[in-house]
Amino acid sequence: MNPYDFVRIDWQTPPPRRAPSWHHRLTGEKKLYSGSLEIDIYAETPLFIGDPRSVSPDPRKPALSFKNGRDAYTIPGSSLKGLLRNVIETLGNGCLTLFDGRYERNKVDYYREVAPAFQHCSTTNELCIACCICGMLKDRSKEIFLGKINIGDAVVKPETLHLYDPLYTLPLMEPKPHHASFYLDESGKRIAGRKYYFHHNPDKEPAQENRLITFGRTPANRYIQPIERDTQFSCQLEFSNLEEDEFAVLMLAVTLEENMRHKIGYGKPMGLGSIYLYPVRLTLIDYSARYTRPGTTHGRSKYEGKQFWNAIGEPVDRFYDTMLNQNVMDDLRRIWLWQPEEGTIYRYPDKRGWFDLPQNRTKRIADTWDA
Ligand SMILES: [Zn+2]
Repeated sequence: MNPYDFVRIDWQTPPPRRAPSWHHRLTGEKKLYSGSLEIDIYAETPLFIGDPRSVSPDPRKPALSFKNGRDAYTIPGSSLKGLLRNVIETLGNGCLTLFDGRYERNKVDYYREVAPAFQHCSTTNELCIACCICGMLKDRSKEIFLGKINIGDAVVKPETLHLYDPLYTLPLMEPKPHHASFYLDESGKRIAGRKYYFHHNPDKEPAQENRLITFGRTPANRYIQPIERDTQFSCQLEFSNLEEDEFAVLMLAVTLEENMRHKIGYGKPMGLGSIYLYPVRLTLIDYSARYTRPGTTHGRSKYEGKQFWNAIGEPVDRFYDTMLNQNVMDDLRRIWLWQPEEGTIYRYPDKRGWFDLPQNRTKRIADTWDA
């Protein structure tokens, strides 16, 4: 089975766009959500966050997962924001910013397969839900919108830290982009959707090599020491002036559903990087109460456990009913299913020349179960 699949895009429905609301006083009756969410992160499989600064000159010494300035293992806030943005774009029908249509340095460019109405937002008063929440920075545009959320680094809880045995990764080979049916839909005209990696069975070892592999003098794989599963991290997500649907999709992007997990970091095709985001405490700040009824809580309400689910229940239910595309949720639920189905081995089709066999040229990902 191929290690990833695509969440479909509904090409009939371009991302709705709006001017972002940024201040409660300017939005009249509309309720806006401001506050913060404390999140605990549990590694469900070994986890490795690449650190471009620490490339060991000695290939016999394993590279370590990312650490912050105080030598603590960390999942950077920027990685978490990228992860959540991707999920928000997917569930909220956002523009296609993270779609990487330019493979092999523009040799193959699928970006032209993306209809203009789906391309990255470019003006600050017409933003999709993902750009409203996470911000919009566009290469060739002078305009920026900083967004309404801020995510801190997730730092390890030292008492939970365990390291996995160092391992040699699989060679970092992606399927060739010219195998178009992996990237284009059945009409051959559109990209197939948003790419997500399946979770692997946490009781099995990650797929790996037993040595360093080289192409000529260039190493094709890496020697790394992942963080062991059950290690915990914690971080803080702050948000301000979210409209109800923005709050809902953000909470859904964090919590997903009970039988789903996120995936982050390096080595996703090998089975690394499955994580569980657990919402510890939601704090909502009611600015109107804060100004009109200055009291002991300053308009702050805290929600934990069952209260948390009650606090987000109505907006999230409404989001399911009115905005969420069922096919999209079905696809993501299937790919990010936790725990994964027993007995499935995920890897790129590795039979020699598989991609080049004439009978395989039109095969789609569902056909790779036995490849
Ligand atoms: Zn956008």
